[in-house]
Amino acid sequence: MQELIGTCKCCNKKIYCLDGFYNGVVTDEKENYCFECYEKRKAEAPCSAPTSAGGAAGEVGL
Ligand SMILES: [Zn+2]
Repeated sequence: MQELIGTCKCCNKKIYCLDGFYNGVVTDEKENYCFECYEKRKAEAPCSAPTSAGGAAGEVGL
């Protein structure tokens, strides 16, 4: 039994729920991605943590 959940926001591939197993990823923004695009997306934006607002262990470049 497979149920269409949505389409990948990146490549428009259809994402199904297969026997309770979701064949993709839903982000916090409720956007659907297939695993491939989700991995790519992670690689392109590895870390979105703010670097400003000086901390004690802040890195200093140059
Ligand atoms: Zn995709």
